[in-house]
Amino acid sequence: MTESNRLLDAVTAAQNRFLIGGDVGAVCDDLLEVLLSLTDSEFGFIAEVRGSGESRFLRSMAMTNIAWNVATTEMYDRFGPRGMEFHNLETLFGRVVLDAGPVVSNDPFNDPRRGGQPYGHPPIDSFLGVPVFKGSQVIAVVALANRPGGYSADDASFLEPLLTTVGSIVEAMHERQARTESEAREQVREQRFQSVVEAALDAVVVFDEAGVIEAFNPAAEQLFGYRSDEILGSDVRRLIPMDVDELGSWAMEGGSSEGHLETTVIHSSQDLFPAEVSLGSFQLDGQKTFTAVIRDITERKVAEDALRRAKESAERASRSKDEFLAGMSHELRTPLNGVIGLSSILLRGTHGPLHPKQAEYLTQIEKSGKHLLSLINDVLDLAKIEADQLEPAPAPVQIEALVEQALGMVREMAIAKGISLESEFEAGLPLVHADERRTRQVLVNLLGNGVKFTPAGGTVGVEVVAGRRVTVTVWDTGIGIPADRLEDIFLPFQQVESSLDRHQEGTGLGLALSRRLIEAQGGTLTVQSTQGEGSRFRFELPIVATDDASVAPESVVDGGEGRPLSPSRVLVVEDNDVNRMLITDYLEAHGLEVVVAVDGNEAVARALDSAPDVILMDIQMPRRDGLSATRELKSLPSTSHIPIIALTALAMKGDAERCLAAGCDDYLSKPCDPATVLRAVEQRLPR
Ligand code: ADP
Repeated sequence: MTESNRLLDAVTAAQNRFLIGGDVGAVCDDLLEVLLSLTDSEFGFIAEVRGSGESRFLRSMAMTNIAWNVATTEMYDRFGPRGMEFHNLETLFGRVVLDAGPVVSNDPFNDPRRGGQPYGHPPIDSFLGVPVFKGSQVIAVVALANRPGGYSADDASFLEPLLTTVGSIVEAMHERQARTESEAREQVREQRFQSVVEAALDAVVVFDEAGVIEAFNPAAEQLFGYRSDEILGSDVRRLIPMDVDELGSWAMEGGSSEGHLETTVIHSSQDLFPAEVSLGSFQLDGQKTFTAVIRDITERKVAEDALRRAKESAERASRSKDEFLAGMSHELRTPLNGVIGLSSILLRGTHGPLHPKQAEYLTQIEKSGKHLLSLINDVLDLAKIEADQLEPAPAPVQIEALVEQALGMVREMAIAKGISLESEFEAGLPLVHADERRTRQVLVNLLGNGVKFTPAGGTVGVEVVAGRRVTVTVWDTGIGIPADRLEDIFLPFQQVESSLDRHQEGTGLGLALSRRLIEAQGGTLTVQSTQGEGSRFRFELPIVATDDASVAPESVVDGGEGRPLSPSRVLVVEDNDVNRMLITDYLEAHGLEVVVAVDGNEAVARALDSAPDVILMDIQMPRRDGLSATRELKSLPSTSHIPIIALTALAMKGDAERCLAAGCDDYLSKPCDPATVLRAVEQRLPR
């Protein structure tokens, strides 16, 4: 009973000692001491089993000093009671491991299981060895020797509680060992990480949740101009002027999340510089830690700035080019409009009969004026295409009507030259998706060339067939084009020199413009030609998808000519004297009453006091422009109903939209010949 109590006391003491983190060796020493005294034994040891399978061996954890000669004394002194290894298990204590059961021998000297004692080993009279298990595995051995009277199998069961304690201590010890090993590995890893950070080419700054800098690598020293010992422990805002909260929310919770940000950081000289900061966060010992990798992007910024400035200046240049184009368009067309308009009025004889010579010169003036105008128009169109200003506005179009209309425009010229015109359409042609005005321009161009470059008696024709797209071919039986010039003719200002066409007037721009107009609509313009036989110019247009086929085609034939005129009043608002005179003359010659105004202010005043039926409103005017006057007229109850037709020479993208937005009912692009103006006015007159 007392022995049992002593045993239990010893067990409890050993456990407590171990639990508070006491030294394993000391705990085992105590246990062995209790064991020896409880069992009245002379020698003993506690040893753990190490290794596995065949190579298992025992290593002492506590052991009675049994040194019997110089060598063993030295060994015991070296290892102490712990760490002695026994690799030969063909011994009495080894059998405990091999048989996984207790070994009792009260005549060890003659026991066949003994492995022989080393020379000089103190004699062993009796032996008890008991295994300590973890599951079915022997993890330790407790061996006792030389009890007077020997041991019995009961002793083994008496020791049971103590063995369990030894078992848990051995196990815990293994765990502790494993932990220290993994800690050591962790340390190696940390050191390795540390050296990676140290060697990193980018600046690395590690800081905690409060912003306190914990690591600062050599690249960071270089970038920020601080030695790491000067900056460690300081607030990271000395480097990155941002709230840690802000940085945190941006790096987010968790180890894997990352964020990139371009910001301005602070050098030790207090100079600011742009940097790209990549931020990561991770948990270290339960504390959130941030890693910022910082890269100087001054050079990149400089390059980006230069690029932006270059782009801005290119855009400015392109804008001024646009403005220049708009200005040109106005400045050149307005006076030319006067020249052409006035010559045609004089030629009509409205102001009296002309001398034949005068008529001949006037015809020449009108013709040259028109040629100049078409040249200007082509140059402007081409310039606008180059500036991506000329955007086609495709809509469903009936190609037959468009071709007939273009033929109509060259008919007079063909008849005059003795050339016959032909057209051939495949039956049931679908609607095409095309910009009506631009496609007509191309057709007139190609037909005009055909007539120009075909000698009298020849034929010019158009052929339209449908496939996946609609193909339009304009052919002639003319002089043809030499094979080596077939591509050149599509370049601006290129004309083929020949005896026949030397007399042909032209700009050399028509084909260049036509090809670009077709390409802008997603098609191609190609040519086939045989000198002396004729040429074939061909282009395709996309077909309107069947879904859209219900869409009514845009009217391609000008309608409503010749509505009988009633005596109506037109207010002509125009600052240019020649233009004003021209339009006034023409409208009056057609029985209309005309009131004039020279700027926006006068326009509003005249509209109020003369109550016109229609207002022709120039847009660009001094003092007050046409858009502003239109807005006022449309807001006044007594004038809001009067139709306003805008006249503008700008012809730039968005002009029409601006006029309509200001309240204009219609829009005419200058130069517009007096007949077009009359037609537009007629359409707006009250019926
Ligand atoms: P332009 O007709 O105003 O000279 P184009 O660009 O329309 O300018 O044509 C360029 C040149 O291509 C013409 O000058 C002419 O030499 C040649 N060319 C164009 N169409 C034909 C054609 N149908 N037959 C023969 N030569 C042509």
